Amino acid sequence: MTTSPKSAVVTGSSSGIGLGIAEGFAAAGMNVMMNGIEPPEQIQPICDRLSEAHGTKVAYKSANMMEPTGVRGLIEAAEAAFGQVDVLVNNAGIQFVSPVEEFPDDKWQAIINLNLSASFYATKAVMAGMKARGWGRIINIASAHGLVASPYKSAYVAAKHGIVGLTKTVALEAAEHGVTVNAICPGYVWTPLVEKQIPDTAKARGMTEEQVKRDVLLAAQPTKKFATVDEMSALAVFLCSDVAASITGTALPVDGGWTAQ
Ligand code: NAD
Repeated sequence: MTTSPKSAVVTGSSSGIGLGIAEGFAAAGMNVMMNGIEPPEQIQPICDRLSEAHGTKVAYKSANMMEPTGVRGLIEAAEAAFGQVDVLVNNAGIQFVSPVEEFPDDKWQAIINLNLSASFYATKAVMAGMKARGWGRIINIASAHGLVASPYKSAYVAAKHGIVGLTKTVALEAAEHGVTVNAICPGYVWTPLVEKQIPDTAKARGMTEEQVKRDVLLAAQPTKKFATVDEMSALAVFLCSDVAASITGTALPVDGGWTAQ
C-alpha cells in the first residue's frame, strides 16, 4: 500500500475464505469492515483480536447480502466507520446441488441473489467514490466453476460465470480511473464448509475420509491437494498493491490445475 490506511469491505467474512482475506488485509495495515449473517456479539471478539494484533480498525456489520438494502447498508456502515471504501471483496456465497429438473426455484433465486446480484449492488455503491479518488480495488471471489461446469450445480455455475462477466465489464468501465476489478477462481479450498462434508460423504459412499478427499472432492484437482485460505488471502493482498495496477479484468484460477484440463 502506498497511501495508507486503505479501507476494505469483505462480504461473508465471518468464516472461511472471507475471514482469511479480512485477516490478511488487517495484517497489511488496512481497516476492514467484516460481514456475515451471524449476530455482532459472535464476531466482535475476532474484530478485537485483529485490531489489537495489527493496530488497524476492524469492525463487523451483520447484513444479508441477498437483499439490495443489506448490501447498501453494509457499504454505508463502512463509509461511516472509515470515511470511504477503497477495496471491495465480494466473497459471500452459498451452494446447492440438484438435477436441473428438480432444482427448487427458491434455491436458484437465493444463489443468484447472493453469488451474483450482491456483487452488482456493492460494486454500484462503491464505484463513484473509487473513480473520484482515482484508486480502487474490487475483487470478486468466483470459482473454478466460473470457468468450467460440473453437473447438478446449475445455479452456482451460472452465477459464477456471471460474476466473471461482471468482472470484465466493470474492469473496462473503470480502467482509466485507477480502479482494478478482478475475479479469483478457487478450486476446492480447505474451509470449515468443506471439512464438514467429509464424514457424511464417507458414510454415504462407504469410503474412508481419505478416499472421499482424493477420489470425490479432489477428483478434478490435479494437485490432489486442497487450496488454502492463506493462498486466497495472499493473492487478494497482492491484487490490492500498487504493483498489481495493470492486472484488471482477469479471472485468476487458484485451482491446482483443475481448469488447465
Ligand atoms: P463459508 O461457508 O466458510 O463462508 C461463507 C460466508 O458467507 C460466511 O461468513 C457467512 O456468514 C457468509 N454468508 C452466508 N450467507 C450470507 C448472506 N446471505 N449474507 C451475508 N453473508 C452471508 O464459505 P467459503 O468456503 O469460505 O466460501 C466463500 C466464497 O468462496 C463463496 O463465494 C464460495 O462460492 C467461494 N468458493 C469457495 C470454494 C471452497 O472450496 N471453499 C471454492 C470456490 C469458490
